[in-house]
Formats: sequence, C-alpha cells, structure tokens
Amino acid sequence: MAAESSIRIIEDKCVGCKLCVKACPFGAIAVEDQLAQIDLLKCTLCGACVEACRFDAIDLKKAVETTADLSQYHDVWVFVEQVDGHIESITHELLGEGRKLADQLGMKLCAVLLGSGIGKQSAELIARGADRVYVADRPELAYFQDEPYAAVLTDLVRRHKPAIFLCGATTIGRSLVSRVAVAVRTGLTADCTGLAIDPETRNLLQTRPAFGGNIMATIISPATRPQMATVRHKVMKEAVADPSRTGETVVEAVADALLKSRTRRLNLVAETGNVVKLAEADIIVSGGRGMQKPENFSLLQDLASVIGAAVGASRAAVDANWMPYSHQVGQTGKTVCPKIYFACGISGQIQHLVGMSAADIIVAINKDPDAPIFKVATYGIVGDALKIVPMLTAEFRKMLGK
Ligand SMILES: Cc1cc2nc3c(=O)[nH]c(=O)nc-3n(C[C@H](O)[C@H](O)[C@H](O)COP(=O)(O)OP(=O)(O)OC[C@H]3O[C@@H](n4cnc5c(N)ncnc54)[C@H](O)[C@@H]3O)c2cc1C
Repeated sequence: MAAESSIRIIEDKCVGCKLCVKACPFGAIAVEDQLAQIDLLKCTLCGACVEACRFDAIDLKKAVETTADLSQYHDVWVFVEQVDGHIESITHELLGEGRKLADQLGMKLCAVLLGSGIGKQSAELIARGADRVYVADRPELAYFQDEPYAAVLTDLVRRHKPAIFLCGATTIGRSLVSRVAVAVRTGLTADCTGLAIDPETRNLLQTRPAFGGNIMATIISPATRPQMATVRHKVMKEAVADPSRTGETVVEAVADALLKSRTRRLNLVAETGNVVKLAEADIIVSGGRGMQKPENFSLLQDLASVIGAAVGASRAAVDANWMPYSHQVGQTGKTVCPKIYFACGISGQIQHLVGMSAADIIVAINKDPDAPIFKVATYGIVGDALKIVPMLTAEFRKMLGK
C-alpha cells in the first residue's frame, strides 16, 4: 500500500475565493479569515475542490491500493443468498448477469454457497448458469452471521482469487461483503444497477446512482482484485433454469477458527400480516399525487386485495406522507419488475420510470392524455382514477368470484 491519503490547504496560495466551498458536494469546506478550512470528518477526498481551485491551493494525496499480480485473478463469483436453505431470487438474478460477464471474459461462473446441509442446492445453481459451485457446509453456517460468513468468504477469496465477486444489495449482502472487501483490501461498489465489461481493459464497469440519484456514476477498480459489487434486487433478469446444464461441485474444508461468532440467532420471527412484498410482487397497484389525498389510497388497497397485489407509491405521494417510504417505487425507492403494474395518478417522471419500466404490462390511469406515463404504458385509461379504480375493483371482484 502507498502512503496514507491526505488533503490540506496550502496557505500561501489560498485567497479565500470560496470556489472550493461551492464545488464540495459534502459541505466539508468553509472559508474563515480568507482561508479555506477542510472538515476532515466530512471530506471524502473526492477531489472536486482540487479541480475547482484556480490557485493550486489544495494538496490532495490519494493512497492507491494495488493487488500484486492481477493476472492471478480469474472467474466471476456470485454469493448465494439462502435463508433457511431456500435460495433467494436475487441469486438467480446475479447468476443471469454473472453468466454474461463470465462469457465476455472467457472465464468460469462460480457460485459460493454457505450453509448447513445445503449441498443438494448445487444442482439448481448449475442449472441456472454456474460452471462451478463452492460449498462450505457446516452447522455453524446454517444461517447468516456476519463474522463466520465473512471469515469463510475471505478465506475462499484469498485461496481461489476470483476476478469479480457479485453479491445482492440486500440486508445480508451489504453487511457481508463490505467486511470481505476490507479484509482483502479491494474496492467495493454498492448498489449497482448496471454491470458491463470494458472491452479494452477488461475491467468491470459498475454503474450506480450517485448524489441522491441525480447522476449515474460508473466506477472501476482497476488496481485491485477481486472487483466487488453489490447489485440491486430486481434490476437484472433472473437466469432461467436449464436442467441439462452440467458443472462441478467443490466441497470446501472450513477451519474451525473461521467459525467463531460473537452473536447468535435466538429466534426467527416471520413477517406477519397479509402484506405482499413490493419487490417480490407479481402485480403492483401504485398511486401518485393524482390520488389527491391519503384516504384515497384505500381505493388502491381494495383493488390490490382483490387481485393479490402489493401497493406502491410515487415519491410525491410518499413525500406528502400518504404512504410510507418502504412503498416508494423509483430511483430513490424500490426497483420492481412485476408482471402487471398499475400506475394511478402518476405522471411518469423519469425517476419513477426507472423503478418500474421493466414491468411486463403497465396499465396507466391518468386524466391528462399527454402525461408521459402513457409513453411507456401497455394500456392507457384517460380519466379520473378515483372513479376508474373502484370500477376495476368491482369488475375484477366479479370475474374472480371474490
Ligand atoms: C433525485 C431525484 C430522485 C427521485 N426519485 C423518485 C423516486 O424514486 N420515485 C418517484 O416516484 N419519484 C422520484 N422523484 C420525483 C419525480 O421527479 C416526480 O416528482 C414524482 O415521480 C412525481 O410523482 P407523481 O407522478 O405522483 O406526481 P405528479 O408529477 O404531480 O403527477 C400527478 C399526476 O396525476 C394526474 N392526476 C391528477 N389527478 C388525477 C385524477 N383524479 N385521476 C387520474 N390522474 C390524475 C396528473 O395528470 C399528473 O399526471 C425523484 C426526483 C429526484 C430529483
């Protein structure tokens, strides 16, 4: 590793012009007595101030981590997220995307499966695109725990040296791979919505929203391996299972020392209530500002309960406190990919569309015939959602005999 990173103001050169203050996206610089002061607790060393400064008055030194020999690193890895032996759908999405990357690089796609008595799941992972499955099978790994999972994965990464390591941007994934990335001293891009290979450098191009979703940033880890990324749920298509595919299963020995944990699970409490999860739902009924007041969301709840849908919302509806944030669909909310998406009183701004336009069928209800949502809608109904939604509910109730 090179010398430590540092940033400082060169006092002789600073004229207190405040250009750096305006340029800093993190509010980390203030000018006092004609001299810029950097708050190191807020500064991320992004370098925006250095570019903005016309007087070369900021000295930024960035330490660069490097992996000794990048050529030793090969294969694309996917962390298999399992809960009580059930493989979560995010894994199938990662296998679909990982397969494309591995094919482009001429590498193997490997799945890494940690658990207890889970070896039999290997066939499913191979059917969904894995060439090789590494299995770490120990009772201590039956359910996710940060410390042993991170220790076992770190050990596997050190021994097998993958070039790329993908994980879901889920609660488990986010908690887990950051520990691994720190341990193996490599870069990690969180919450990616797009992955590609740079044809010239063969580096992984990791795209994710940045600065509150105002820009899409593409990030590379050119000097360290593996290139690690967490990927947003429901952005990539799931790999389709092909039972005729073949691959190998490698059962890994796990040293006892790796299995130590300062925490243990006392109880698993299943989510109660008849709530359909937004990210998993096949049908979503969403409402926007056009629903006009929070009480009118009960019209959407009625339709949703008849057709077995989850209820979503635009940011305008969430910002107005009509629905909780957990229901927000869009760039700064959830990305969804249902079979049918009803957009009721939603105009269809780009930040909403990026979260739902992958739906198979979009039904838009809006009283403005020029609303942008109609450009992406499969079926459009021009009219008052407050009247049309109850009519749809009544009609579906009749058809479905409910
Ligand atoms: C960085 C950033 C991130 C963002 N992230 C998100 C995000 O994650 N999700 C998101 O949704 N937005 C997001 N937004 C906000 C987005 O730009 C829009 O402001 C928002 O989507 C608008 O919500 P809306 O369609 O409900 O409201 P509006 O744009 O106000 O549209 C209301 C629509 O309802 C129609 N209407 C009115 N009354 C009726 C009626 N009775 N019947 C039928 N139709 C009716 C109107 O014709 C209009 O088209 C983000 C913005 C920024 C800048």
